[in-house]
Amino acid sequence: MPSHEPTDIFEASPTALGIAWADGHRSEFSFQQLRANCPCANCNDLRTKFGPLVISADAIRILGIEPVGRYALNILWNDGHKTGIYGFEFLRSLDHPAAP
Ligand SMILES: [Zn+2]
Repeated sequence: MPSHEPTDIFEASPTALGIAWADGHRSEFSFQQLRANCPCANCNDLRTKFGPLVISADAIRILGIEPVGRYALNILWNDGHKTGIYGFEFLRSLDHPAAP
């Protein structure tokens, strides 16, 4: 059983996704942050080669979210990208980045 499970996934604002976690913590992720951190192999390659993805906060939107098993979300973006599988552990780590 994953240590971090969402109890609710909601629209935190017109440009941000909210997640309420089983431990009571609430996260807010801007669409820009989520899209820039897309964990798919293609985006990982792009970041390795060219650095952080440049995403327009004004333009990026979520068209749909599909659950993947009980451990992740697949996000469909309005730029046509849909291969990112956002694991709950990964999402939670985005909210609490490891200390440098
Ligand atoms: Zn990606």
